[in-house]
Amino acid sequence: MSLSKIGAALGVLVASVAISPAAAQAATAATVVSPKRPLNVREGAAVWTRSLRTLPNGTAVQIECQVKGQLIDQGPVRVTDQWDRLTDGSFISDAWVRRGPAAPACTPAQQTAAPTAAAAAAGATTAGTVASGAIPLKARSGPARAAFLYSGLPNGTALNIACQVQGEPITGTMRATAAWDRLDSGAYVSDAYVKRTAEPPACAATAAPAAPAPAPAQAAPVAEAGRWVSPLPGFSARPGFRTPTNPNHVGVDIMSFVGTPIHAAAAGTVLEVVCNIEAGHSCDQTGSASIGGCGWYVKLQHAGGVSTLYCHMVRRGVVKPGQKVAAGQVIGYVGSSGNSSAPHLHFEVHVHTPPTSPGNAIDPLPFMRTHGASIG
Ligand SMILES: [Zn+2]
Repeated sequence: MSLSKIGAALGVLVASVAISPAAAQAATAATVVSPKRPLNVREGAAVWTRSLRTLPNGTAVQIECQVKGQLIDQGPVRVTDQWDRLTDGSFISDAWVRRGPAAPACTPAQQTAAPTAAAAAAGATTAGTVASGAIPLKARSGPARAAFLYSGLPNGTALNIACQVQGEPITGTMRATAAWDRLDSGAYVSDAYVKRTAEPPACAATAAPAAPAPAPAQAAPVAEAGRWVSPLPGFSARPGFRTPTNPNHVGVDIMSFVGTPIHAAAAGTVLEVVCNIEAGHSCDQTGSASIGGCGWYVKLQHAGGVSTLYCHMVRRGVVKPGQKVAAGQVIGYVGSSGNSSAPHLHFEVHVHTPPTSPGNAIDPLPFMRTHGASIG
């Protein structure tokens, strides 16, 4: 499944994490089932987080607790969004694990105690040097050439790399890679043109990128997206972005009625019209809290590297990928498809896109307020 689909899969309603008091005590014995290739052990509950090591098929592991993360539908054991936190703080997808009863849910403290999250918080940076030859290396608002251009960094410029993200693959002077280095300024440069001796840590998947400081004399990226409007005029969103009990909820929910028209929040281009749901279920039926996925959704790309996502539509969106839409144009209708317990719109805003990921989701409430289209 594509990264963007995964982002949508994470933005689900009522993903409540049951907190078990026993979570910290007992570890659950389990076995890795990965016959074709070794299983990646990661620093977070998603495949875009850094792989720390691999485990061969049949390896015995100790699961400390489970967290809700990226939905994995390729594993041999089960289709699940549960990830197993091992006793050293690393994660493996539960889709590749044979075990007895499910391990207890991780406490919020356990979820955020990942080694690299601590490293990122400490502000440590990796030293690097631009190795781009005659052409300056472009520093951008996101990990792709389509992202907003901040400035050109001449060959030999010293860099402080905060962390790495996966983005557009680039072949450069140093290597061919999809990795982009996030600088301490918040800007991104392709790692293909960076000389360095150490491997920078992956950017924490749970931390939204800090807003880069715009270069002088260039407009702030978001200002280019034009007029913003409420996706569901007359209905209010409830706060719910990354709450302590639901840290993977990267949008807000606007309760409404089946069939209420959903409007494009700003002018843009339709990126995706997709059914995102757990295997064995249909987006054309009413969903439930026990089904994974955001159901029928539409993703729009706006100017300035901003994307919006609209989940749980009653049926396929009424727009097509590649289609241009105006602010306020109807793109679909409210429903309750996928991981949804009542008719509502799950609405996400991402910055520094494409691609969207949980890491670049921002709270839609202040964003929409700032853009003159309050939904709160
Ligand atoms: Zn939601």
